[in-house]
Amino acid sequence: MSTLATQAELTLNDWKERAANATFKTQAFIDGEYRQALSGQTFDCINPATGQCLTRVASCQSEDVDAAVASARQAFESGEWSRRAPTERKKILLKFAQLVREHREELALLETLDMGKPISDSLNVDIPLSADCIAWFGETVDKSYDEIAPTGSDALALIPREPMGVVAAVIPWNFPLLMAAWKIGPALATGNSLILKPAEQSPLTALRIAELAMEAGLPKGVLNVVPGFGETAGQALGMHMDVDCVAFTGSAEVGKLFLQYSGKSNMKRVSLECGGKSPHIVLADCHDIDQAAQAAASGIYYNQGEVCNAGSRLLVQESIKDELVERVMHWGKKLMPGDPLDPSTQMGAMVDKTQMERVLGYIDIGKSEGAHLRMGGNRVLGESGGYFIEPTLFDQVNNDMKIAQEEIFGPVVAIIEYETFDEMMNIVNGTRYGLSAAIYTKDINESFKFMRDVETGLAYVNTSCIGAEVGQNFGGIKDTSPISSREAGSQMFDAVTYVKNMVVDFSGKLQKAQIE
Ligand code: NAP
Ligand code: MG
Repeated sequence: MSTLATQAELTLNDWKERAANATFKTQAFIDGEYRQALSGQTFDCINPATGQCLTRVASCQSEDVDAAVASARQAFESGEWSRRAPTERKKILLKFAQLVREHREELALLETLDMGKPISDSLNVDIPLSADCIAWFGETVDKSYDEIAPTGSDALALIPREPMGVVAAVIPWNFPLLMAAWKIGPALATGNSLILKPAEQSPLTALRIAELAMEAGLPKGVLNVVPGFGETAGQALGMHMDVDCVAFTGSAEVGKLFLQYSGKSNMKRVSLECGGKSPHIVLADCHDIDQAAQAAASGIYYNQGEVCNAGSRLLVQESIKDELVERVMHWGKKLMPGDPLDPSTQMGAMVDKTQMERVLGYIDIGKSEGAHLRMGGNRVLGESGGYFIEPTLFDQVNNDMKIAQEEIFGPVVAIIEYETFDEMMNIVNGTRYGLSAAIYTKDINESFKFMRDVETGLAYVNTSCIGAEVGQNFGGIKDTSPISSREAGSQMFDAVTYVKNMVVDFSGKLQKAQIE
């Protein structure tokens, strides 16, 4: 259905027509079927490009979470998925990925209407990467080997990985389907049952793919989706006594709450992927200032700056600063926001009014802190009713300012000038976050010194901070991922499985303490 040929032909009018006729899955998906929330409550699902309500979605409360957990547990214990032959599980996950690809245009439209990102990104980035992620994990199912511990010939000690059981995933809105896929892939590949809580701002694609998973052959109860608010559905999952593990992606503040929920309930395992304040660093000897500037501009403005590893601090050596800043502004101005349904738009709307106001608030803070606003700073396209902010650049930022320390999660870059390599490293590491960092330099020694000393989970040389290929293990340290395995790669198995030591003693001699 969705081929590259049809994609090339779709115009703004085509997308508008499809948007006018779009249908939405609005109920929770529990035990293999769509259901209203037991309370009957719903919440508005807003299109951030217009401020208009698209539809109303079930607002799950703790009793809906109880039903989803009971279904997930029942499915897990039945063994229908958790103990199914690996080749069969692989086939189902690959079919699921294929169905996501086949529904690419439909899902891309839902994603764009729901959270405001450009349709060309939804179509060419979010949806294909989500399918690739599910397929990548599907492929691992019959290719993952466990370990054998060294023993003498009298015994055999096997160390298999076992699924945790019932896994909950609580995710953000910036890449709604991709963040869901990063949880679904590893959790289902290892035999768990999953309950997914999408962000309240962006539930539509998660709700739609639940039935695609069933169509692919996933047994009921293995994948449940409970839309709702963090304080209700999210907290109910965090506090649930029968959830074995929560895999969370979102802000550090809410990540800390999940640690508390765990301590107050059943000490469930918690894996956290939180925020970032990632630096792009351009050294005077970089290969090409313009190329570095272009990468820096897309590294902060891509996805409206709503990216956990956005290069929100741009550190530049004094001697090339003026030229670099000019070039970043040149590229940034090409990214003025537009109608997300227009295939030529490269920057869409902020996800909601609250987020827009939060970002505008940080722009005011930057001005009052004495940083020099060189580009942007305003809400634009207000007549659309949508929440658009123009690409914004602050010069003369000092690393102690709030706009250099706090995650803005919007199209705002802070230029920080430095002189020496050591000074630069202090600024780079002078943040509570530790997700990603990128350096542009020709000097091989400096690039390796940088990668060795940078306090992040991801380090790049001569390419932007943004770049997450499935299989590369994504995550950080410090407040970004204080306790976590890595996402989107095999290390995520550490979050959703546990290791069991199984010993067979052929001789009866291993038992050290003998009863006399
Ligand atoms: P958020 O406010 O922390 O929300 C994330 C999820 O947690 C949402 O589903 C939210 O539900 C839920 N939640 C909120 N309050 C809760 C509570 N009291 N108890 C339980 N659950 C609760 O983050 P966001 O604004 O959606 O997303 C932006 C953040 O995500 C940024 O900090 C960004 O850096 C981070 N992020 C990190 C990564 C990474 O891999 N490191 C990737 C993407 C995004 P509702 O919103 O529905 O209320
Ligand atoms: Mg929405």
